Order: sequence, then structure tokens, then C-alpha cells
Amino acid sequence: MATPPSSGGSTPHSTGHASVPEVAGAAAHRLVIIGSGPAGWTAAIYAARAQLHPVVYIGVPKADPGPILPGGQLMLTTEVENYPGFEHGIQGPAMMEIFQKQAQRFGTVVAPEDIVSVDFSKRPFTMTTSEGAVVRAQSVIVATGATANWLGLENEMRLARSGGGVSACAVCDGALPAFRNQVLAVVGGGDTAMEEATYLTKFASTVYIVHRRDSFRASKIMQERFMSRHNAKVLWNSAVVDVVGDQTIEGVLIEDTVTKQRSRLDVKGLFIAIGHTPTTKFLKTSGLEFDESGYIVLKSRGSVTNIPGVFAAGDVADGQYRQAVTAAGMGCQAALDAERWLAAEGVH
Ligand code: NAP
Repeated sequence: MATPPSSGGSTPHSTGHASVPEVAGAAAHRLVIIGSGPAGWTAAIYAARAQLHPVVYIGVPKADPGPILPGGQLMLTTEVENYPGFEHGIQGPAMMEIFQKQAQRFGTVVAPEDIVSVDFSKRPFTMTTSEGAVVRAQSVIVATGATANWLGLENEMRLARSGGGVSACAVCDGALPAFRNQVLAVVGGGDTAMEEATYLTKFASTVYIVHRRDSFRASKIMQERFMSRHNAKVLWNSAVVDVVGDQTIEGVLIEDTVTKQRSRLDVKGLFIAIGHTPTTKFLKTSGLEFDESGYIVLKSRGSVTNIPGVFAAGDVADGQYRQAVTAAGMGCQAALDAERWLAAEGVH
């Protein structure tokens, strides 16, 4: 099911890459930005206008087992209605395309690779790309965002990897013919679950939200949007404990979290919407400080980490707000922090 979003236009990173300038000998980029969501692009816009000549490593598409795309979570979103400046809303991928173009207009260099390991123990910092190249930088902004969580059931993961009807992205996969006019289930009780389930009601015969408690944590407006659909149903106090089906999903085994009674619900699709995990695996030996949930710890309201010269912005350092607009604001802060830090260090 690792398909790109079905709507919202082209992948923003498909064209217009400037080649990454060679860094000879000990010379290094002044600023490398890792990540291409709202935080990364906003940092790039500010840094490029400050003539730091930033290079943005946008990442490569992957399935892990769900889709991870350059551009981040907004690439897996349809309508964004709460980003100021877009009175009538905008599709997530289209928004990221605009962010990228704006950053490139000021000379941001786009590198279509992942950073797979880093050495932040000495300056210039060194990083290795997915192509095996070594990149040097005087300063780094980490803006790698967060990815979808899974229940961790064996059959869930098997069918997610094989495209058997289990997905963590309704927006990417929900419109597929296999799900049309079928009974579908969404797991979770947050805004993402509401958003995904509401989206699915356009295609499905019935959409069940399966939630482990007796109330949602989602915002009232999003709950109401889902509940108002004629084909919306909720299974309260319910946990998915197994996924049934060989090649494709046929149903889920549900346990009542209060009575512990089990029952089967026949579904042709299962969408997991239970939150996200920050993308920090490649930083594990970096010396950066993380909190108990894996988010990068910031030293203040700004973007300063425990390593001088390494800054963080967006969902990778924000377990609380995780909004496009807050990520963009953090990206701005990170670029300003990096600019001031480089000036103080005498790096021109
Ligand atoms: P979230 O708010 O953390 O909600 C995760 C949900 O999944 C919770 O209901 C949680 O249950 C449930 N859950 C977690 N682990 C589970 C497990 N192992 N098994 C079953 N259920 C599990 O995550 P989110 O919905 O992805 O939202 C993240 C942030 O993005 C929020 O701040 C949200 O407001 C924002 N967001 C905004 C929009 C929008 O405004 N358009 C859209 C999407 C997301 P409990 O409630 O029992 O803990």
C-alpha cells in the first residue's frame, strides 16, 4: 500500500534539483538542513535569504512499511484548512510544492538523498548520504519530522507490507478500488483517526472507528464531522488484537477493553491512525539529547540542542503541537539561530 497520495498534484521534488556543490578538502557547507517538511523548507527560505547557501537533504521515498515521502506528513494529507494564508484550504502536497519553490527561488540547493549517519563530535560536522557520499557542514538543522505508528501485530505488518488492505495512510490508499463500497475500520481516537475515517466515508459502505477508550481525544469539530456521515460507526472500548486474512484482509479480531470479550468484525480494509514517532534513528549515536518518547530535546523556546551548531525544528522536536504552522515557525527559529551562531563563530 506504499503508494503516493492519490490527489494533490505532483510530488514536489520531482523536478528542479540544482546539483549539490562539491565541498573540497576541509571546506564545508555553512548550513545543511535534513528534512523537507514545513520546518525544513521554512528554515531553507530564511537561511537562503540570509545567504547561508543552505543544502536541503529531502530524503528518498520509502515504505516502512507505510509510505514515507520527501515533504513529510503533508504529502499524505488532503485538505489543509488550518494553515493561515490559504483561505479556502490547500492540498498538502501542493502546499509542500509551494514551500520548496519558494526556498529554491532564493538559491536553496536540493539534494534528493537521505542522511543515513552523522558525526557531530567535531566540526565541521560530517554526514553520510544514502549514496555513500560524505557531506561536511559548519551547522546543521534537523527537521526530519515523524512517521506513523503501528499496532505491531504480525498479520497487520505482513498485510501492510504486501498491500493486503492494511495501511497507515487512508489519504494515500483509501481511494483504491479494493476499498470502494466496502466495510472499513480505522484504529485511533485522535484528529488523525477522525480525518482519515471521514475521508474514507466518501468511498466505503461503512467506516468503523475502533477506539480503545470510551471517549475521543480528537477535537470536537473533527469528531462531529465524522459522526455526521451516514455511514460512520464507532466501536468504543475496543482494541484490535489480530488481523484475519491470508493474501488480503478479511476481518479484525476485536477485544472489548472492559469485558475482555472477543468478537470478529469483517472488514476489507484497516487503517491505523494511532500517532507518530519522531524520525531520529539515524541520530542515535550522534550525542543529541532525546526525551523519553524519542523527540529531540530543545534547550529553550528556540531550536538550540545540546550540541552547539546543531539545531532542530518541527515534529522531530515537538511531541506536543505537531502542526504544519508550528513546524514552519520552528524552522524559521532554527534558521535565525543558525545564522546568529555561525556569525558568532566567525563562519562567513
Ligand atoms: P494522537 O492525538 O496522539 O492520538 C492517537 C490516538 O491513537 C489516541 O486516541 C490514542 O488512544 C490512540 N492510540 C495510541 N496508541 C494506540 C495503540 N497502541 N492502540 C490503540 N490505540 C492507540 O495522534 P494523532 O491523531 O495522529 O494527532 C497528532 C497531532 O496532530 C494532534 O495534535 C492532532 O491535533 C494533530 N492533527 C491535526 C489535524 C487537523 O487539525 N487537521 C489532523 C490530524 C492530526 P488514547 O486516546 O486512548 O490515548
